[in-house]
Amino acid sequence: HCELRVEGVGYRYPNGHEALAGVDLALGPGILGLLGPNGAGKSTLMRILATLSRPGSGRVTWNGTDIARQPDALRAELGYLPQDFGVYPALSAREFLAYLAAVKGLPLKRARDRVDECLALVGLSEAADRRLGGFSGGMRQRVGIAQALLNDPRLLIVDEPTVGLDPEERLRFRHLITDLAGQRLVILSTHIVSDIEASATSLAVMARGKRLFHGEPEQLMAQA
Ligand code: ADP
Ligand code: ADP
Repeated sequence: HCELRVEGVGYRYPNGHEALAGVDLALGPGILGLLGPNGAGKSTLMRILATLSRPGSGRVTWNGTDIARQPDALRAELGYLPQDFGVYPALSAREFLAYLAAVKGLPLKRARDRVDECLALVGLSEAADRRLGGFSGGMRQRVGIAQALLNDPRLLIVDEPTVGLDPEERLRFRHLITDLAGQRLVILSTHIVSDIEASATSLAVMARGKRLFHGEPEQLMAQA
């Protein structure tokens, strides 16, 4: 079950900047591509959906529960890859994920298996024992996805994952996201339409804190 509803969500930063103004979205399983230029409000919205900040107005429900009132229900089912995700260069991929699994409270025995499963999911089994300091940008992003998958989330939020990747890594990342969709809701933000147009179930276009469009990719192309 994964139903996410965003109802009239507004958000203003302490300096008075209105980053979101009345955003509505109704989402189920599949891949939402969140499109918009820099400054559109994508990261702000994703931080709210990840329960890292609270909406200033409106509300967000996950399977009917208000996430600002009861964040734990969503947090248990959430995987989040922020835009500024960093890794510890001295650790191996496996050590780093084991550490994060402990932080996230996975039972120790389960954690060991799950770390290996997640490394396999993102195609890093072979590189599991290499130090992260030697990883390419694309490999680091896959580590980021692997950590977001540790708790087998129903909601996966990925903020601008393809920034800084070369075309080959970008293509690989697109395939990975498609593979992960299944019974999950994946929300992926980007300002590069080609990152998402082929794999998205639906697209939302944002600009200046407003949702300009939400629908199937074909509908958007027909309007363009
Ligand atoms: P996007 O992810 O689409 O690039 P953001 O959500 O990061 O957009 O930003 C939306 C708007 O809010 C931008 O105009 C940005 O400059 C502004 N903003 C972001 N973070 C802050 C902050 N901490 N304080 C004030 N304004 C902010
Ligand atoms: P994004 O791609 O999410 O828009 P930005 O480069 O806009 O990222 O923001 C990077 C960081 O700077 C974020 O933590 C954001 O909250 C903060 N930030 C962005 N715009 C402002 C602003 N106008 N005032 C203060 N902080 C900001």
